[in-house]
Amino acid sequence: MFENLSDKLQRSFKNLRGQGTITEENISDALREIRLALLESDVNLNVVTELIEHIRARALGEQVATALSPSEQIVKIVHDELVNVLGKDTARFQKSSQPPSVILMAGLQGSGKTTTSGKLAQWLKKAGHRPMLVSVDVYRPAAREQLAIVATSINAQLYKGDTKGEPADSKLVERLAKEAKREAANYGCDILIVDTAGRNHIDDALMAEMAMLKKLLNPSEILFVADAMTGQDAVNSAKAFNDHLTITGAILTKMDGDARGGAALSIRHVTGAPIKFLGTGEKPDAFEPFHPDRIVSRIMGHGDIATLLERAESTLDRGKAEQFAKKALSGDGFSLDDFREQLRQIKKMGSMKSILKMLPSVGPFAGMQQAVENVDEGQFTRVESIINSMTNKERQNHELINGSRRKRIAAGSGTTVQDVNNLLRQYGQMRKMFKTMGSGGGIKAQQRMMS
Ligand code: GDP
Repeated sequence: MFENLSDKLQRSFKNLRGQGTITEENISDALREIRLALLESDVNLNVVTELIEHIRARALGEQVATALSPSEQIVKIVHDELVNVLGKDTARFQKSSQPPSVILMAGLQGSGKTTTSGKLAQWLKKAGHRPMLVSVDVYRPAAREQLAIVATSINAQLYKGDTKGEPADSKLVERLAKEAKREAANYGCDILIVDTAGRNHIDDALMAEMAMLKKLLNPSEILFVADAMTGQDAVNSAKAFNDHLTITGAILTKMDGDARGGAALSIRHVTGAPIKFLGTGEKPDAFEPFHPDRIVSRIMGHGDIATLLERAESTLDRGKAEQFAKKALSGDGFSLDDFREQLRQIKKMGSMKSILKMLPSVGPFAGMQQAVENVDEGQFTRVESIINSMTNKERQNHELINGSRRKRIAAGSGTTVQDVNNLLRQYGQMRKMFKTMGSGGGIKAQQRMMS
């Protein structure tokens, strides 16, 4: 997400280094590069033009004594202006005064509407709500079935409704929607998420049906689901839906792909509606609220530690982590079982790539981007299967693992003896390191260095 844009912006800032002050001349090169970087990332032309003008005006206007160097000034100005384009604050999720609040999910077919309806339901459940899902896509029974599967997988309420023998038309859509709202109230569900029919393109019938649903259900949110991979097309359809329906927000899906990110930077400006969430993968929890400042921080190469910490907070088991730390620092207590448990905990946070990408690519973490390219996601799985192939006793006492057992373990886990040897060597080094830390060696050594 945004890697290309981020790299190109860094380059344009670099060229300003070593300059004493910002002048019309030295800034125009940087601005040209920033403009190109944005356009190549598929940001809408109007947005780019406006952004560049704001940046230029501020950069030249802020020449008054400042402690920042020109390149630092530009970094700050670009940061602020990007946050402005994205709408500054994290958008609020709106509810109606009378439950159930209705969320109308709008978008073209294949944009990820059904998947996202499920993700949103799961997110709301975690936030303490009781959402109910309903699909009113009577034209595609497979789509309704898909939502039923999604609802089961996340254990959310679903209004299925009976559509047998009835013609698939707007009348049926209306009846299902009405029933679902009533049912949600009966079940004590405070939110009803309505997955609507999608088409390949925008047409009058689709818009008329959406308008009918809006009138009937009085939704507190109309969320436009946009496939970020489609770039400017996503922005154009967001605009068309907004012109007809006045959307309250957008959700950008497939931000995990090689989307150039332009849609994210244009939708808010073009529709006036904020982006509220991002979809970052196919799984139900690959979903996050959209925080403009954090996204800009990622674009500027400063990483997104806040989101990383939140993810750790919500997925890691604090009790287990504390237990582990105690055991590890006590020296010999850190077994291969504990090692495997740690790997599982880390895996729960997402792919290694997605974790590394949230670290800053400038400053002490520079070079991390290369690590991202080289990271071998299969490594975790291999290490886990090697440990799985050991006996319980061996996991508690690795010294039992002799040459012939190493061969058996390698065969059992589909790896090589060298893989097993590597793992045992790394594990040994880790134990040693923890032991030193636990005995205070690390701190003492540091103190010695400082004295
Ligand atoms: P709908 O026709 O709009 O309801 O789209 P679906 O929910 O059926 O999604 C279409 C395809 O996009 C499916 O294969 C989903 O798994 C995939 N998809 C949805 N959201 C994401 C996402 O955030 N990332 C990725 N990689 N795939 C997604």
